[in-house]
Amino acid sequence: MDDCLFCKIAAGQIPSDKLYEDDMLLAFRDIDPQAPVHFLVIPKKHIASAAVLTEEDGALLGHVFAVIAKLCRELGCDESGYRVVTNIGEDGGQSVKHLHFHVLAKRSLAWPPG
Ligand code: AMP
Repeated sequence: MDDCLFCKIAAGQIPSDKLYEDDMLLAFRDIDPQAPVHFLVIPKKHIASAAVLTEEDGALLGHVFAVIAKLCRELGCDESGYRVVTNIGEDGGQSVKHLHFHVLAKRSLAWPPG
């Protein structure tokens, strides 16, 4: 999508602090980290949010979570734990309208969230 920040990051038109990339996905560090480890995982194809996912996206989602688990092992937060969040719409706090999964780790995360 022409006017989408994360499509531009996925296409390499805007730089990012990349942790992982393949044909389907990109993982990069959040520019405004909310925890000592805070990265985003995005599909390269434009999907507006998790609200429009379908059964056909099952393989993509399985791959997202496998990549998250691999990166958390590499970053040393697999044993201490981590949180995966996807915000949807205005009340959900979604500011970028391209599906992304936040991964936060290396501090104790409160519940419920604010
Ligand atoms: P959300 O509010 O759930 O839509 O999350 C969007 C996230 O994207 C926020 O945590 C921002 O800090 C992050 N963000 C925005 N622009 C960039 C960028 N250029 N590189 C990395 N992260 C970004």
